[in-house]
Amino acid sequence: MAKQDYYDILGISRNADQAEIKSAYRKLAIKYHPDKNPDNKEAEEKFKEAAEAYEVLSNPEKRQRYDQFGHAGGASGGFSGGGMNMEDIFSQFGDIFGGGGSPFESFFGGGQRSGRRVSKGSNLRIKVKLTLSEIAKGAEKKIKVNKKVVCSTCDGTGAKDKSSFNTCRTCGGTGAVRRVTNTILGQMQTTSTCPTCNGEGVEISAKCTTCHGDGLTRGEETITINIPAGVSEGMQLSMSGKGNAAPRGGIPGDLIILIEEIPHETLKRDGTNVIYDLYINFVDAALGTNVEVPTIDGKAKIKIDSGTQGGKILRLKGKGVPEVNSYHKGDQLVYVNVWTPKALSPDEKELLERLRNSPNFKPQPGRNEKSFFERVKEYFE
Ligand SMILES: [Zn+2]
Ligand SMILES: [Zn+2]
Repeated sequence: MAKQDYYDILGISRNADQAEIKSAYRKLAIKYHPDKNPDNKEAEEKFKEAAEAYEVLSNPEKRQRYDQFGHAGGASGGFSGGGMNMEDIFSQFGDIFGGGGSPFESFFGGGQRSGRRVSKGSNLRIKVKLTLSEIAKGAEKKIKVNKKVVCSTCDGTGAKDKSSFNTCRTCGGTGAVRRVTNTILGQMQTTSTCPTCNGEGVEISAKCTTCHGDGLTRGEETITINIPAGVSEGMQLSMSGKGNAAPRGGIPGDLIILIEEIPHETLKRDGTNVIYDLYINFVDAALGTNVEVPTIDGKAKIKIDSGTQGGKILRLKGKGVPEVNSYHKGDQLVYVNVWTPKALSPDEKELLERLRNSPNFKPQPGRNEKSFFERVKEYFE
């Protein structure tokens, strides 16, 4: 099924400004909020759709890509495409409604989310080394990461058993405490995170012996990472929810992937182009020949015309590296260097001596001969 247009989802025109986008989304978010539509799958879908549309259109850079390429314009082939989970959506609300981030306590009378702090796992950083060929084609990497996982003994509660896992008596499970203080201006009421349970709303009387109450242990997970073609050294990708786990039903952190390039033996990357330095001797340059050059995917045969001058640049179209999230692909540039022999046998010397004063061996750059500098410039324009 084709995805619905983001502008249609929010019911706005294509030139709507940020205020209109925000206001349209706010209305839909209230209308389809799960607290207001319990067990209504259709409302939940609409709620997610609106959040996704807002996520893209509220970001000028993403919006521009969307306007240009449609749904295909998002990172690694498509905008979040259903990838937004409820926590992501709720975390946007601070921006939409201002203040605390959860206006629904007051709108819909609280419910589960009221004030209780949901813990978030920390982000995990890993490095991924890629060859030039992997960069050019994109790669699927299965990587074993050592990270914090939910303790299986206590299912992440941190408690020894069911009876030692209870609602916090200090805050009654809300995670927040109200304090009334007398000041010269009269009574002031402040709300702060419950010091007993750290905002989690639970009290643990006996700790799990495996994780010592953390709710987390160390474990290994094999994660499949899809790396889009065209990434480069130092680039960071992020996979939401693949970082360290959080205790007591919290949200896991993100996995941050740092890209490292493994240098190629003979090819040099220059942005989306790939450069190869070819050396031929002056006989081949004069008579012409066929040579094989390495490319990112195997070897390619190229023809050297007779009378080729050193400094010539040959272009293998489309044999470079693609740009991330774009249809543009670079080329391979072959720099032709004419090799002058450094050592000669007496026979070779004699042969060359005979050619030395041959009229055709006198350099005679034509009026149309471009300098090396001009040729290089031309190729990069
Ligand atoms: Zn445990
Ligand atoms: Zn508490």
